Amino acid sequence: MILVLKQNPEQEKVDSLINMFHEKGFSTNVSRGESHTIVGLIGDTAHLPVDLISSMDIVESVTRVSEPFKAANRKMHPDNTVIDVDGVKIGEGFFQVIAGPCSVESEEQVTEVAQDVKASGATLLRGGAFKPRTSPYAFQGLHADGLKLLLEAKKATGLPIVTEIMNVNHLDLFADVDIIQVGARNMQNFDLLKELGKCSKPILLKRGLANTMEELLMSAEYIMAGGNSKVILCERGIRTFETKTRNTLDLSAVPMLKKISHLPVIIDPSHATGISWMVAPLAKAAVAVGADGLMIEVHNNPSKALCDGAQSLDPQQFDKLMQDIKGRVEFEGKTFARHFECPF
Ligand code: PEP
Ligand code: MN
Repeated sequence: MILVLKQNPEQEKVDSLINMFHEKGFSTNVSRGESHTIVGLIGDTAHLPVDLISSMDIVESVTRVSEPFKAANRKMHPDNTVIDVDGVKIGEGFFQVIAGPCSVESEEQVTEVAQDVKASGATLLRGGAFKPRTSPYAFQGLHADGLKLLLEAKKATGLPIVTEIMNVNHLDLFADVDIIQVGARNMQNFDLLKELGKCSKPILLKRGLANTMEELLMSAEYIMAGGNSKVILCERGIRTFETKTRNTLDLSAVPMLKKISHLPVIIDPSHATGISWMVAPLAKAAVAVGADGLMIEVHNNPSKALCDGAQSLDPQQFDKLMQDIKGRVEFEGKTFARHFECPF
């Protein structure tokens, strides 16, 4: 439910209105615009007396939000959400590139790739330690040891790290991870989403292989309903009848999700296509449709990668792409951040 307050309401009255809703178990999001203050009310509002609330002296209008996603809804939160990861901001005017190998394979591999992608301008390091593989016989990741190696690479480069969680029981192992990724296959693992809602770390939520945008937002809602509003949405391609590419990149998800939600949206062109030479053109397209960032797989020797080598860029290809998209990001009026290290 959305309450638009009358112009210049007395702060005391706003506070007591909000406290009243909090006492009744609702959470609120207050947006102060130039002329109006909007209060987004989240919770089961079905039985709230709209007429009574409308008649309160500081309330101008009351509207029910018809969509099932509430906290993630732009109507509740008209401004874009910006997520700050250790000074690396994602959203609004801040464009970030998350890069690194599909899987963490060894200390040299992940640290080398981390140094290379940092030098090219990536601001966050990715790398899977727990890998969701179609075959149980395929490399499953280095698990806790992989997380340790990622932390070593973080120490060596200063890049915050993004890595996937598959099992809620592993949450303690993720204590030093900067962004926890929920992969496409776990987008509707509701118990996992509920637990992540209780933590304060940003969550990178990837769209499921066969899920609608509304289902993606409902999964974000699970996390946000638990109190964690730091959700980054990621379009990584969906299943269609097309077989030339691994998935079909739904670029329309970017403008649509950004219209109906305030959360940042990034694109993963690597998993979307499964083909390394297609990553650059689709990364450029992602910038043009308004994405807030990219997630790109980079390997120091893609032909020897234990996972997803065919879609991985080598460091030179990644560097070329980064030089190319920099101007495009700036053309869109966004800041193409580089990793900044304090020189003293
Ligand atoms: C990944 O990012 O390593 C991954 C497995 O991606 P997705 O969940 O999109 O398939
Ligand atoms: Mn991968």
